[in-house]
Amino acid sequence: MDGTTIGVIGTGYVGLVSSVSFANFGYKVIAMDSDLEKVNLLKSGEVPIYEPGLKEMFDRVTESGTIEFTGGMKYVVENSKVLFICVGTPPEDDGSADLKYVFEVAEGIGKHMNGYKVIVDKSTVPVGTSRKVYSVISNELQKRRLDLHFDVVSNPEFLREGKALYDFTHPDRVVIGSDSEEAIEIMKKIYRPLKVNEVPFVITNPETAEIIKYSSNAFLATKISFINEIANLCEELGADVNQIAKAMGMDGRISPKFLHPGPGYGGSCFPKDTRAIVNTAKKLGIEMKVINAAIEANEYQKHRMVIKIKRRLGDNLAGKTIAILGLSFKAETDDTRESAALVVIPELIDSGAIIRAYDPKGTDEMRWRLKDFSPQIAYLENEYDACKNADAVVILTEWAQFRRLDLRRLSEDMREKNFFDFRNLYSREEVEDMGFYYEGVGR
Ligand code: NAD
Repeated sequence: MDGTTIGVIGTGYVGLVSSVSFANFGYKVIAMDSDLEKVNLLKSGEVPIYEPGLKEMFDRVTESGTIEFTGGMKYVVENSKVLFICVGTPPEDDGSADLKYVFEVAEGIGKHMNGYKVIVDKSTVPVGTSRKVYSVISNELQKRRLDLHFDVVSNPEFLREGKALYDFTHPDRVVIGSDSEEAIEIMKKIYRPLKVNEVPFVITNPETAEIIKYSSNAFLATKISFINEIANLCEELGADVNQIAKAMGMDGRISPKFLHPGPGYGGSCFPKDTRAIVNTAKKLGIEMKVINAAIEANEYQKHRMVIKIKRRLGDNLAGKTIAILGLSFKAETDDTRESAALVVIPELIDSGAIIRAYDPKGTDEMRWRLKDFSPQIAYLENEYDACKNADAVVILTEWAQFRRLDLRRLSEDMREKNFFDFRNLYSREEVEDMGFYYEGVGR
């Protein structure tokens, strides 16, 4: 690799995966976070999030000394040529993206810039943010009476949690949005290791790059909401949504991906990014009717899971114990942001139920998120303990270990045999054969 040092600001899901992957490519990486507790954990060799394969790669690159961690903005700015902004852009109350962390970082960069830098916006940000980042940095430089040359690039990230390391090195495309030839060349050089995987590059202006990210996420969210609506229709008509999704997916124009019915999408991206694009459009006087409908359908879908449970167990759940398997928003991550469990569990408790919950990685975060409900929730060590003496089991996340439950053991351990398979992991027959009442989504 050439001697370019890459600075990564923000070491969450995107920032940590990016820094470790860049270090694994052979670059010198400085990873910075304002959360000093996190920095200290990283310095002591611990990885604060769960992502398959991350710890192993982290250990490798920290041992080889190609990565260092810091809480110092001055240090990362002064010592890096390319600075990736990977901080969070959480939703404001009105759904718009809160850009305070992005601008905080831009200010910090302007305060400490000491030569030509490429500032890369990897956080998901609304159209126009790259130019605003440029202005914030320029203002800081003006205050310092410095006339330094720099470029801002929009380089949205498309990785999926749970498959983040693979996605980082095998993206479907790398989008580079910039008006500067110099910056584009530097970005191409940085991503050159991906050339072995024949990854295509989309070179465009910053505005287009910013909106590519939102359009992609809004489209995928819409696809999920679409199949969930078809699933709900199937339930009333006696049709099987899985076969419908399979047949639809065989059409090359549609593709089978993101056609899996379930309890509604969650996570840190789809809910936030759909709301943000709707909000951006609203400010411009445009109503995003399709995306709005996808959001509304998704909120209903989470609530519908409770309706399905109550149809079987009754509206009053007092005296009922319900086992919830899966708290993270999807398998292979500890991220519980906007997960279906955050709607389903409180609604069940409000109707009188007691919850026994288990998740392989998401328990600690969920304990914190649902602290107001803690008297009514027991967090167990495994799926079988969670189901002990329960009146129903509800699968909310498609963790591999929930695909191969010992149904005989469950049928012996549970008080009543109600099986809500909201990820369609089982065939109705195999569950009913064990004496359970079975309900999936759309079948
Ligand atoms: P995250 O919340 O996991 O991490 C953000 C990190 O930024 C935290 O560690 C926080 O301490 C740090 N931070 C905040 N302000 C800072 C500052 N001023 N200086 C230094 N560090 C600061 O967020 P994430 O999930 O990694 O997402 C980051 C961005 O990437 C978001 O815009 C998100 O939409 C986008 N994105 C996320 C994913 C995903 O799957 N998580 C995928 C694609 C894009």
